[in-house]
Amino acid sequence: MDKELEDKVKKRRTFAIISHPDAGKTTITEQMLLFGGVIRKAGTVKARKTGNYATSDWMEIEKKRGISVTSSVMQFEYQGKRINILDTPGHQDFSEDTYRTLMAVDAAVMVIDSAKGIEPQTKKLFKVVKQRGIPIFTFMNKLDRDGRPPLDLIAELEDLLGIEGVAMDWPIGSGQTLKGLYDIANNRVELYHKDGADRFIALDKDGKLPDSEPLSQDQQFQETLDEIDLIKEAGNKFDREKIALGDQTPVFFGSALTNFGVETFLNSFVNLAPAPESHTVNEDEELEPDDPQFSGFVFKIQANMNPHHRDRIAFVRVGSGEFKKGLDVTLARTGKPIRLNNATEFMSSERVQVSDAVAGDIVGLYDTGNFQIGDSIYSGKRKIVYPPLPEFTPELFMRVTAKNVMKQKSFHKGMNQLVQEGTIQLYRNYQTDEYILGAVGQLQFEVFKFRMQNEYNSEVEMTSIGHRVARWIDPDQLDPSMSNMRNLLVKDRYGNPLFLFENEFAERFFKDKYPDVKLTEKL
Ligand code: GDP
Repeated sequence: MDKELEDKVKKRRTFAIISHPDAGKTTITEQMLLFGGVIRKAGTVKARKTGNYATSDWMEIEKKRGISVTSSVMQFEYQGKRINILDTPGHQDFSEDTYRTLMAVDAAVMVIDSAKGIEPQTKKLFKVVKQRGIPIFTFMNKLDRDGRPPLDLIAELEDLLGIEGVAMDWPIGSGQTLKGLYDIANNRVELYHKDGADRFIALDKDGKLPDSEPLSQDQQFQETLDEIDLIKEAGNKFDREKIALGDQTPVFFGSALTNFGVETFLNSFVNLAPAPESHTVNEDEELEPDDPQFSGFVFKIQANMNPHHRDRIAFVRVGSGEFKKGLDVTLARTGKPIRLNNATEFMSSERVQVSDAVAGDIVGLYDTGNFQIGDSIYSGKRKIVYPPLPEFTPELFMRVTAKNVMKQKSFHKGMNQLVQEGTIQLYRNYQTDEYILGAVGQLQFEVFKFRMQNEYNSEVEMTSIGHRVARWIDPDQLDPSMSNMRNLLVKDRYGNPLFLFENEFAERFFKDKYPDVKLTEKL
């Protein structure tokens, strides 16, 4: 075994942040980058997000929306660890890529607005992460504002998400009266509104403040002590095994905007979050991350929307071995040999040429159309195939036709290509065979339309069917007369039938009418 490689892998911490828009993902990311020393001033990431930042000539749509591909992966060193934060686009740019990114991380950080609690998008992303059985760390944000009581927030984790919350620290006051954070894990208090090392006060062995500290006499602090006693007594017990499986989440409190509680969170996270682990490949073989043979899988393909630069970047999560420039690999799906000359790794805002990417790291490969989402690549003789990425249940649907009926050929070619690539999902009306596109986010339709026109010279006509609840049905139980206006019957690209219900009521109505029919959803 290569000790050097093993040591490198052990340093990696690769994660994504899951949250609802506006919970504070960008703000906390920025604080982490500040701690990592990659940016010097708060506001840098935000400026990029709002488009006030010099972007390269990446996608037109991206530019218009102020998203930059370079922020897809942010890498920095912190406390001797190599951190990779994979961005999970959340606003209008939410798409299947957001879900797929969660397939390439080893842990997730869930940021929750403590005034709002768990919001819909957090719930959706949580479901995907939970299914993978990876550790999830929770940061209850915006403590500087009046929020919900901490006990309620922890209870909500269990009630709405079915995950146990275990408090790692606890707020002393909140909003206007916020005084600090009782750091249970490190047995200290972090004072609010104080910079530098003296913002931390050590607690004695009983978890009490020295009498000389003014805060020790504070009414709010006494209340906090009572709550701490309560959670120590009746709360969930810290359980490493449960955390590793995603059955328990360590909960931290803080305020990303005022950089309060973030360092405490980050330090614990870096210690508790796992380094890359083994992957099951070739259906039933365990591949260790420090196996010397290089391998990885493509989890995202970013197309360049500039018609003059049709190159794309395939994002590869390294699963084993070490990536070196000029590496010869095989594309498992086709057996085709490829020399990887043009690759980038992602160092904060700049894209730099890859030096040493090992398991846990992400490399971006310039692609001229070789790769598809879910593809495995490997060096050496032994074939390594990663399991296929899951498909996600789309929620938005559009009918699509070619504007020019004489151009059916390019329409079909483009559509097949883009569907294969994972840009969008394709369905056919069960009776009429008309084409229906499905997506999890609006951006996917825009990208589809843009690329059809620019890459395949095919103008498309799209009419929205709107938001639908997609549920698959066993073909043996299917009777086409079950379909009506409120549950459109379609088939997916493998020919499997499914209903697109107008809403949850329509689904419930159907279930009441056909109690024996089993309906399934994908992730
Ligand atoms: P994102 O959509 O999850 O990336 O959220 P942002 O990081 O862009 O934050 C959304 C808004 O909440 C911005 O106006 C932030 O300044 C604000 N915000 C973020 N963290 C905090 C916090 O800890 N306290 C307060 N009061 N506002 C915050």
